Amino acid sequence: MKKILVITSTRPDVIKLFPVIRQLRRTKDVKIVHLHTGQHAELADDIFQDLDLKPDIDLQIMQPEQTLNQLMTNLMEALGPKIAELIPDLTIVQGDTTSALAGALSSFYAAIPVAHVEAGLRSHDMQNPFPEEANRKMISTLATWHFTPTLLATNNLLAEGYAKNTIVQTGNTIVDAVQAISKDTKNDIPLPYLLITLHRREHIGAPLEQICEALKQISEKFPAYRIIIPMHPNPQVRQTIRSSLAGNKQIQLIEPLQYPEFLSYLKNCHVVITDSGGVQEEAMVLQKPLVVVRKTTERMEAIEAGYAKLVGVETDAIVKAISQILTDEKQYDLMIAQEDLYGDGKAAEKIVNALF
Ligand code: UDP
Repeated sequence: MKKILVITSTRPDVIKLFPVIRQLRRTKDVKIVHLHTGQHAELADDIFQDLDLKPDIDLQIMQPEQTLNQLMTNLMEALGPKIAELIPDLTIVQGDTTSALAGALSSFYAAIPVAHVEAGLRSHDMQNPFPEEANRKMISTLATWHFTPTLLATNNLLAEGYAKNTIVQTGNTIVDAVQAISKDTKNDIPLPYLLITLHRREHIGAPLEQICEALKQISEKFPAYRIIIPMHPNPQVRQTIRSSLAGNKQIQLIEPLQYPEFLSYLKNCHVVITDSGGVQEEAMVLQKPLVVVRKTTERMEAIEAGYAKLVGVETDAIVKAISQILTDEKQYDLMIAQEDLYGDGKAAEKIVNALF
């Protein structure tokens, strides 16, 4: 019997590890211990309900307005004794959160091998996204197994000198999750609408204000479109969005949506505008034209294929790019993904097969 410690911390990594946990449950002679750090308490509770998951351990590490230092310190203090008590045969972490890094480091200190899901993503800019680019590079250093979503990610790791036989290209588990959760449901929002998500730490302040100004201008220029923004719980993000956009009749500021509902909003929208990582991938799976409001992205596959536009955070550039998509039908049609850029929905199966 092998004991596998699976560490989750935020909504996106619960979503992306859900297919792996499900696959491990179907595997003989495996005992899973699901530890949730609770880095974003508000969002994760809903997601557990949606995915029918119940962590074995919940560290509830979230404290209001905690700094990255405090978060890292609290994580290391909590994880050390837990890992010493559990002595797993393997730890699985996902992505680039501070919890994933703390999980990898604590496991490494305890001489426990680490498998990294969604390995090899790189923006090649340590400030964007911050601190995620640094987190994922450090996790790569600590990991024994690197499960990459795409060839680009595999090549990033090879270029950094990681051994070929430690890298397994599996596709991204988000495709598995979308396939399992997304239903053909219609929602009752009047069409057509643009769906927006914004939350990046490095956008708080001027960049987020510029993005909101662009959305305001789009609402004036294109009164036929509604703009729907499920707001991330981060108080600073909410405050900026509210102060620039509240009261605009065309713009709906709503609470975060449960995952199946969010996928239904995504499936029925006209264009997606986001600074999120996961939403960039989901937009491709659900064949939606995508505008990435960031300076850099580690998900270049969609940009290179022409299905997404990377437009930065300047108001004029954002307005120009969205206007073009909304007025040029040919351009719009070219942005509907015609291939599986991020995986075939069997990533979890490939990960578990590689491990056992
Ligand atoms: N999401 C959700 N409800 C919402 C907004 C987003 O369930 O109201 C999901 C979305 O489908 C995606 C994930 O949350 O899978 C993305 O999370 P976030 O943008 O917080 O993080 P990132 O992917 O940038 O790490």
